Amino acid sequence: MRAFLGLGSNLGDRAYYLEGAISALVSPKIEVVALSRIYETEPWGVMDQPLYWNQVIEVETTLEPLDLLHVCQEIEHRLGRERKVHWGPRTIDLDILLYENRVVKSEELRLPHPYLEERAFVITPLREIAPKLVLPSGKSITEVSGEGKVHPLTP
Ligand code: AMP
Repeated sequence: MRAFLGLGSNLGDRAYYLEGAISALVSPKIEVVALSRIYETEPWGVMDQPLYWNQVIEVETTLEPLDLLHVCQEIEHRLGRERKVHWGPRTIDLDILLYENRVVKSEELRLPHPYLEERAFVITPLREIAPKLVLPSGKSITEVSGEGKVHPLTP
């Protein structure tokens, strides 16, 4: 199954956390097939915190969505994420943005990710690696842009 994951970090060595999370995902059940560039983005909600680095990756996985979520959460914990403030700084945040065209509305997992179409830090890197994607809402990735300032770290 094809899924897209969103990664974000705004504490410590942000490149290290993004790379570490991607390496930790790779297993017999998860193959990383595409990576966006890293984007530097303004934080949401709580503005008084360091800039985020965000990246979107495409994976091919045999795991069901909830099992994939649990792998992501395990990696977040392993990489030492401490959440003291809602929407506050974190070493690494891993979200499932899309899993095929599945729509899930459970308490633990919502697919597509609820902020997917609203935030430029998700839409811009996603469009970079999947320019022909049609979202579960029926909209093309080229029709949505999301809010917020983002710019790629590399040209
Ligand atoms: P956050 O780390 O702030 O993005 O939120 C983590 C919480 O969101 C966890 O309790 C997850 O169970 C829940 N959640 C719901 N949908 C998703 C999703 N698509 N990807 C990651 N976490 C999700």
